[in-house]
Amino acid sequence: MENCLFCKIVKGEIPSEKVYEDESVLVFRDINPAAPVHVLLIPKEHIGGADELKPEHSDLIAKLILTAGKVAEELSLSNGWRIVTNVLEDGDQTVRHLHFHLLGGAKLGDFGLKG
Ligand code: 5GP
Ligand code: ZN
Repeated sequence: MENCLFCKIVKGEIPSEKVYEDESVLVFRDINPAAPVHVLLIPKEHIGGADELKPEHSDLIAKLILTAGKVAEELSLSNGWRIVTNVLEDGDQTVRHLHFHLLGGAKLGDFGLKG
């Protein structure tokens, strides 16, 4: 989708520090990390947010969450981690392309995280 920041990252029009990529999913480091490890998992397909999900996205969502576990392992988050997705205005979503924050690397309560 035009003028979508994360679609531009998918297309390589905006650089990102990639951690994992396959045909349908991209994982890259958050530009403003809220924890020692903070990456974003996104579908390459534009979906505005979790509020736009439809039954046909079930496999994609399962894949994103399975990928979170795989990336957490690769980033040595053996002590634990968190995934969060913010939705629309009250959910503090600032980028309108579905993404899961994967956070870890410390006891997350110490960061007062809301995602
Ligand atoms: P939200 O607030 O929508 O849940 O999360 C958006 C996230 O995207 C924020 O954590 C923010 O730091 C991150 N972000 C915003 N712009 C960029 C960018 O250009 N590159 C990267 N890597 N992350 C970004
Ligand atoms: Zn997009």
